[in-house]
Amino acid sequence: TVGERKYLIGGNWKSNGTYDENAERIKVFNGLGPIPDNVEVVLCVPYLHIPLCLTSLRDDIEVGGQDCGSNVKDGAYTGEIGAHMLKDIGCTWVIVGHSERREGFGMAGEPEGLCAEKCKVALDKGLKVMFAIGEKKEERESGVTMEVCAKQLEPLAKLLKPEEWANVAIAYEPVWAIGTGLTATPEMAQATHADIRKWMKDNVSEDVAKAIRIQYGGSMKGANAEELLKQPDIDGGLIGGASLKDDFFNVINGVP
Ligand code: PGA
Repeated sequence: TVGERKYLIGGNWKSNGTYDENAERIKVFNGLGPIPDNVEVVLCVPYLHIPLCLTSLRDDIEVGGQDCGSNVKDGAYTGEIGAHMLKDIGCTWVIVGHSERREGFGMAGEPEGLCAEKCKVALDKGLKVMFAIGEKKEERESGVTMEVCAKQLEPLAKLLKPEEWANVAIAYEPVWAIGTGLTATPEMAQATHADIRKWMKDNVSEDVAKAIRIQYGGSMKGANAEELLKQPDIDGGLIGGASLKDDFFNVINGVP
């Protein structure tokens, strides 16, 4: 990172853990060392375990959801958890547009417009958003990475007023790197982060481009965090697998 941007390390537990297993993970995290002042940490856990985290996880880790509905209030939306409900219970953050949701696990996934809408609703309800974008393997190989990212950002840029971006972080997660052990090299990640920042400058504003945090996600772990986080345009991470273990704290401590 450079300048004023505070590092943002997000953990994403995805759909993992019984109540007891996640209570144990919380206990482990509570016993680990201090979090450096220049890092903000948020853990996004299964909906069912949010209350547990809010009552028993250390205070210096915020709690967030992994998705939210696009509904703006209570109503007939079976199965949805609205952003207003996440806010009400005490969450401060939510991930929107994770590639696993965009892809839909083999079922109908979430289109770009819907992800943008969810992000707007979450911001309106007072949550901060980690907005996930990223290209698939064949898109990287055919050289259209930035086109894909731009297509995912465009509907959001249309919906948000410039000042609303203050509560958004962009999580750049190349889909081919998620859960595969294939991390983008620091140079490759830095180049795409710089392209995304330039896109923000050209399409939103120079101030927003300078201030917005761009996290890297995709097989980030203690062993590779430091070299990624020292890149000028990498302002944090979104961590899946490694956030289930104490290695999450090695990522946090990998911040320069
Ligand atoms: P991973 O997941 O760290 O397990 O690759 C990252 C993510 O999906 O956010």
